[in-house]
Amino acid sequence: MEAQNSPHEVGKANAFPTPIRIYVALFAAAALLTTGLIALVYGRPVHMPWGTAATLLPLLTVSAGLKLRFQLRDQIQGVDLFEAMLAPAIFALPPIAVIALVAVAHLTIEVYRRNNPIKATFNVSQWVLAAGLATIVFHQLRSGPTLSGGTALAMVAALTVWALTNTFAFAGVIALAEGQEFARTIRVILPAQVVGWAINTSFGMLFVASYRSNPLVVALFVVPLLVLRWSHRSYAAVLADKARLAGMHRATRALVGPINPRDAIPHFVTEVRNCFEAGIAQLVVRDGDVRIVYTTDAEGTAVTVEDAASESLAWALALRGRTSRITRATSAQSLVALLKAEGRRDCIAAPLFADGRVVGVLCAYDCTGPEGFEEGELAVLETLAREAAGALAKGTLLDEILSERSKLAEIVEHTSDGIVTFAPDGTIQLWNRGMETITGYPAAVTVGAHGLDRLRARDEAGVDVMVDRWASGGALPNQLQIITSDGGVRWLACSATPVNETDGRPHLLILVVRDVTRAHEVERLKDDFVATVSHELRTPLTPIKGFAMTLVEAGDSLSSADRTVAAQSILRQAEHLERLVVNLLDAAKLERGVDGGGHDAIIDVQLIAERVASDFRTAHPDRVIVLDSTGDCRGRGDELFVGQIVSNLVSNAIKYAPTEEPIEIHVGNNENGIAISVTDRGPGIPASEIDRIFDRFHRLGNVLTRAAGGTGLGLYIARQLAAAVGGTIEVDSVLGEGSTFTLRLKPPARLVAVS
Ligand code: ADP
Repeated sequence: MEAQNSPHEVGKANAFPTPIRIYVALFAAAALLTTGLIALVYGRPVHMPWGTAATLLPLLTVSAGLKLRFQLRDQIQGVDLFEAMLAPAIFALPPIAVIALVAVAHLTIEVYRRNNPIKATFNVSQWVLAAGLATIVFHQLRSGPTLSGGTALAMVAALTVWALTNTFAFAGVIALAEGQEFARTIRVILPAQVVGWAINTSFGMLFVASYRSNPLVVALFVVPLLVLRWSHRSYAAVLADKARLAGMHRATRALVGPINPRDAIPHFVTEVRNCFEAGIAQLVVRDGDVRIVYTTDAEGTAVTVEDAASESLAWALALRGRTSRITRATSAQSLVALLKAEGRRDCIAAPLFADGRVVGVLCAYDCTGPEGFEEGELAVLETLAREAAGALAKGTLLDEILSERSKLAEIVEHTSDGIVTFAPDGTIQLWNRGMETITGYPAAVTVGAHGLDRLRARDEAGVDVMVDRWASGGALPNQLQIITSDGGVRWLACSATPVNETDGRPHLLILVVRDVTRAHEVERLKDDFVATVSHELRTPLTPIKGFAMTLVEAGDSLSSADRTVAAQSILRQAEHLERLVVNLLDAAKLERGVDGGGHDAIIDVQLIAERVASDFRTAHPDRVIVLDSTGDCRGRGDELFVGQIVSNLVSNAIKYAPTEEPIEIHVGNNENGIAISVTDRGPGIPASEIDRIFDRFHRLGNVLTRAAGGTGLGLYIARQLAAAVGGTIEVDSVLGEGSTFTLRLKPPARLVAVS
């Protein structure tokens, strides 16, 4: 056993610390000492069998080089037939010649391997020392020139001393290099040493016996050497293949575990490391401007991010675009420099491709395991890299699908439209948030339910709509009426899209609905309005036409008093019609928002009230209109609008209260603003009608108010105008006693002291 490029030395900045150097120096001294002692004791050889020496030298060299080595993670185990080949040399050659042969054979190997001088010195010294000690033991114990029992035992003893010297020497260097306990090191390497010793001693005895029978057969010793080498190679090849294939199997299986293959990468890299019995395994993946590096060593897996422009051995190998192996002996100097800079002994790397471009690289550094199967290793690594590239592509695809899905889900969830889907059997599969808002029912109670039974869906004609029967044909109406969870009625505009399977069978119904209750209501009100307007406009026309016809056809036969009555009736109805048209135009203008705001001036309500009162007193000299005011009567609004509102209120009071009853206008203020109230002692308004009198065309059904010929638009217009100036109108009424209408306006903005 000797110090090879073993994992023990790999990656160490200083592979030969002082204790090792001293240890090597001691060995060199011991070897020289032994050599000197042998020269002294045994002197110059009297008889030198040059032929045997010349034949044994190449055989020894070859057998030292043909090491049948099993390198496993933390152990180096190797068997060679050097000792077996040494046995006939010890038997046949003078001691000094044996030492010379051993030294030359091993020097040749060290030079061939270009080993470090310190390492070479250690190896050669160790072998020379072992050879010297073995030779001394043999020559002291042999019982004669023949191969007697005693001589055979002497040979066994010599080979045992040889093996022991090697074992201790090697254990010593390992213990120093690793800082490991010497005894423990011995225990670890001993099994392989014993096997090596047994094989070598048997072969050694065989070689000696053959040599004894005929020295010429020495040349044939090369045959068992080669046979052993070949059989070992085939065996090791099988082992290597088995180990790598099992590793590959484990690594690829790691990739198929999680749903997203990216999640399997740390496990995969760990298995790659195991597969190649590597010090480190690494997967580098290019991601835009950075590279994500998964590194697994004995400690576990670490994920780091490096700049895509940064230089690394892994990426330099990736850019080669092919699977490659780099050792310190590789000719590509720049790569070897990187290998050394990263403190690695060797590296195998296989690039990952996507659409013909390099997207990553899979590397294993400092591989151990059986030697000599580099091609197979590269093939396995390439396969693993392909698997990794496939897994990354699948991961990317999965990310894209998930992101698309979440985008779709967000659209479906956040759209204000309601979206509901039905299976062919009518069960609800999806109920989005819009649907929850519109109907008040959460998805938890509707998904899985049958059709829209819960919503009591009906069409415009009031017929139940069976959405659950969509698959058996039949169109769905464009508008649905539903009852919400709080019992409210809502109208939905629907758009139904059936989706079929490829074979034409119904697969899914997508129903998109929009709440159109407001639009539906407006539509209905418009229809009502048109009907009411036409009715209201036509009503005064009937007496106008009747009186006009009477005047045309029988005017001459009528008394002048009757003619006057007829003409006055026509005039009254025409005035009513005029009021109606003017009010209608005002209302329409307000609804369209023609005035567009800007009614926020500071106005003196007292003045406005005085003007309105005075106008009405002139027009109705028979009525008593009382106006009183308290405090500052300024408020915010629009002079014309407020005047119009007060006019409408006073006009109603005049219309509906008996002539003899006074009408009171009061203007007052408090901190909330200004209030103008108009009080009459008229018939009053029933509580149930209080809100409705502000609706368009709404008039109380009693004879009195009907007879007064109102248009039903005055209060509606007053409320619209009040809203336009930011005010309100309320009514307080006692049936049979009278009513008080109050307009409230905002106070003028206060000055705020800032100093
Ligand atoms: P009209 O032109 O009919 O007066 P309004 O919108 O001004 O229309 O009033 C709506 C209805 O409210 C009136 O028809 C009347 O029945 C009732 N009303 C309004 N003011 C009074 C009031 N001061 N006293 C009693 N009823 C009133």
